[in-house]
Amino acid sequence: MSYPARLFEALPGGGVRCQACIRRCRIALGKRGWCRTRENQDGRLVSLIYGQVASLSLNPIEKKPVFHFLPGSRWLSVGSLGCNFRCPGCQNWELAHADMDRELKSTRYVSPAALVQLARERQAAGISWTFNEPAIWIEYILDTAPLARQAGLFTNIVTNGALTKEAVDALGPHLDVYRSDIKGFLARTYMTLAHLPHYEEIFAAAERARHRWGMHVELVTNIIPGLNDDDATLEGIAHWIASRLGPDIPWHVTRFYPAFIFQDRPATPLKTLLRAYDIGRAQGLRYCYLGNVPGHELENTYCPRCQTRLIRREIFDVLENRLQAGCCPECGTPIPGRWI
Ligand code: SF4
Repeated sequence: MSYPARLFEALPGGGVRCQACIRRCRIALGKRGWCRTRENQDGRLVSLIYGQVASLSLNPIEKKPVFHFLPGSRWLSVGSLGCNFRCPGCQNWELAHADMDRELKSTRYVSPAALVQLARERQAAGISWTFNEPAIWIEYILDTAPLARQAGLFTNIVTNGALTKEAVDALGPHLDVYRSDIKGFLARTYMTLAHLPHYEEIFAAAERARHRWGMHVELVTNIIPGLNDDDATLEGIAHWIASRLGPDIPWHVTRFYPAFIFQDRPATPLKTLLRAYDIGRAQGLRYCYLGNVPGHELENTYCPRCQTRLIRREIFDVLENRLQAGCCPECGTPIPGRWI
């Protein structure tokens, strides 16, 4: 099934330029973009994956990870096939790098209205577009998110962050939570991970989501030994978050596990994650978290003023939440986020 794409411009001679992600693929007649999910059919861009669901499950929001928006709530999580990156350490490579022509047949179509209905039946707090890169099926999100909001549901994308300004602006009126990766701070990192020379727009997209559209933003850096674990990278990311987005934006530094092509890389040592945490705090970030380290005390939320433990977590479970009307019960400090 093919569905008209919205974010593209027609070029002279029948070509098109996709505007969904910062690759801005120029696509000739009959060809597909880098993600293999968007095709030029007769001078018009179409999505090959609109509504084609490859993975659907109910998950805690902590799994995104998102820690400052309705802790403990369950979200209907949905993904399709394909990606605009080719991260060698991809944890979802079976979906992201599927053979599109073969695997698309095994997906099932779920209309926007049906997805919202499913979320309601499962008593989800919201819908999360995740598993593969949401930007590449943005039309599906744009059709579903307004229905979700009408039904009293929240919306979230879990993205690698490579959205164009046009994509952020299209999503802006409809999206509540913007959970973006920040994979590096140097050109070589994004070239290694994604063959992406214009990575600066990833930072601009997150800033726009936060400042232009007021979305709730949380950021994740999956730390891969030898790739993005150097002090310059970590300090650069943390400084950018603190100075451009604000010290209250949660930053999750997560442990990498060998996967996909990066089978030979070691898992991230705990001491590296702790160094990243210290760097984040030294740069002024109030809410740094360790990820993929089950049971570690730095998965918890602490009051930045009096250090009281406010939310205790283990893996994806919230074991205790002591916040009172969004404030520390001991010293009254407001904790940024959405708590009810
Ligand atoms: S979504 Fe990105 S990778 Fe896919 S066709 Fe559009 S610009 Fe290219």
